[in-house]
Amino acid sequence: HAKSRGWNNYEFFSAEMTETARKRFELETSLRLGIDRGELRLFYQPQVDLDSGEVIGAEALVRWMHPERGLVPPGDFIPVAEETGLIVPMGSWVLRTACKQIYEWGQMGLKPVRVGVNLSALQFKRQDLAAQVEGLLKEFSIDPSMLDLEITESAIMDDVDRAVAMLNRISALGVKLSIDDFGTGYSSLSQLRQFPFKTLKIDRSFVLDIDNNDGDAAIVSAIIAMAHSLNQSVIVEGLETEQQLNIMRGLHCNEMQGFLFSAPLPAEKFTELLQAGRRLES
Ligand code: C2E
Ligand code: MG
Ligand code: MG
Ligand code: MG
Repeated sequence: HAKSRGWNNYEFFSAEMTETARKRFELETSLRLGIDRGELRLFYQPQVDLDSGEVIGAEALVRWMHPERGLVPPGDFIPVAEETGLIVPMGSWVLRTACKQIYEWGQMGLKPVRVGVNLSALQFKRQDLAAQVEGLLKEFSIDPSMLDLEITESAIMDDVDRAVAMLNRISALGVKLSIDDFGTGYSSLSQLRQFPFKTLKIDRSFVLDIDNNDGDAAIVSAIIAMAHSLNQSVIVEGLETEQQLNIMRGLHCNEMQGFLFSAPLPAEKFTELLQAGRRLES
């Protein structure tokens, strides 16, 4: 019973809070160091066209190669990076590395693939984002349509007018724009049609249980119909089973990304997959 414990209870919570704050500070310090030491890595997860079965894109996903902890997933450090502002230099590194990779795959004579890069809300708020993207396109002389910037609903909804202006500037460069984790935010149809998104990515949570849950299937079907009526294509994230794939094919989803085809891969492994011409069997 909380009340009866009185002071002990207070001390317990304050000790726990100090511990949390200490861990957070340690993480921030080692992340700052890690970025400087070049410990970030980009992995690439294939995106497959459901008509042809071909790999036509990749999502770039950051990992932290920690000297002691090994490969750290973004869920363990992106929140702290966002709180501390470290996400801005980290995001610049991600964007630059992805553009360099597009250039290098081009140099290798591989079939061009579009590369998706996640933008955090803080990066998106920076006035210089469009100029930064334009600079990278020039520096690596890459086809702008091979770059696909992924933004979540929540990142654009707190200042819709500014977001529309920024997205239009980026879109005018020829860069593709995707709305990420669609369905988990609160954007309305009327708001969405103001934005120049080419692609809508359906969040994994909607397909997890789609083969048992008629409600989820109805929602996904409605999202796809809506996207297509706005001339947007649809990528479904997190497909793990043949049943989920068959359902998404039946709903005329355009592309898939998920463990069923491949997990995110280091650049060399993704290169091998492209060279081997691996495709999704129909
Ligand atoms: P996201 O952008 O929605 O990325 C998709 C996530 O789903 C990735 O997790 C991917 O590995 C995972 N995934 C894909 N297919 C499957 C599947 O079949 N099953 C399961 N269980 N998971 C699947 P990851 O790489 O851990 O990234 C998590 C989130 O971290 C991303 O979600 C994104 O929001 C963020 N993130 C990753 N890289 C970056 C980055 O460079 N910048 C920013 N700002 N955020 C990033
Ligand atoms: Mg994403
Ligand atoms: Mg997503
Ligand atoms: Mg997600």
